[in-house]
Amino acid sequence: MKKLWVLMCALVLAVGLLAAGCGGDTGKKDAGAAAKPAKKELLVGTEPSFAPFEFPKENSKEFTGFDIELIQAMAKDMGYEKCTIVNMGFDALIPALDAGNIDAAIAGMTITDERAKKVNFSQPYYKSGLTVLVRKEDATIKSIDDLKGKKIAVQLGTTGAMRAEKVEGAKVTTFNTNDLACIELKNKSVDAVIGDLPVEQYFLKNGGSAYAKIVGQPLTSENYGIAVAKKNTELAKNMDKSLENLKKNGQFDKLYQKWFGVSK
Ligand code: GLN
Repeated sequence: MKKLWVLMCALVLAVGLLAAGCGGDTGKKDAGAAAKPAKKELLVGTEPSFAPFEFPKENSKEFTGFDIELIQAMAKDMGYEKCTIVNMGFDALIPALDAGNIDAAIAGMTITDERAKKVNFSQPYYKSGLTVLVRKEDATIKSIDDLKGKKIAVQLGTTGAMRAEKVEGAKVTTFNTNDLACIELKNKSVDAVIGDLPVEQYFLKNGGSAYAKIVGQPLTSENYGIAVAKKNTELAKNMDKSLENLKKNGQFDKLYQKWFGVSK
């Protein structure tokens, strides 16, 4: 009887050890594989009237553009099954990150010290700058120096809005999108628009040159970054890793070439 007990105890112990061993093996395998994100879906906020970075696809409810295709490729690279684009106002993006309503924001967003206090930015992924847009026939405004006391339209919460506020005596009106600011220029309700150079260039190329033109040299040099919540350091790290991966495997260059017609 005693012998049987000893045998049974030994058996239980052996099975236990075997199970522990299996568990240990699985653990090792997981550690070696690429870290899968805890969530299956990456929720990305943007303000989608900022071509060629983010804008509605023709005859579709979806969005496209350099930023959109970049974040979709990054989400795939990071192991997400789905990347959902959430449409919101530009000034709502950082509060939405803070509130946890979105995981990331990609919106031609300039990395500024002020914003970097509130969010984690990825490494810069695009070099941009601000420019001045005026009506085609206007011969009086040749640069930002001629905007003193003039009416300027800008997009709410942007670096263009901040720059306009510094122009002496200017009357600055804010709009939800750059497109709306440009319509004000067309309607002669304002004298100029201050906005991002690549976006104003794209706008001119796609019909805007009928009534508008760019004047002067670029006003600033700015870097776009992808923003994630301040507390989400893990995702911020993964974003950078993924950007690096796409740069190494040529996908980043391919997208850059597709949307800007030149290689990076
Ligand atoms: N780059 C500008 C900024 O970050 C404008 C961005 C935008 O309007 N989407 O303020």
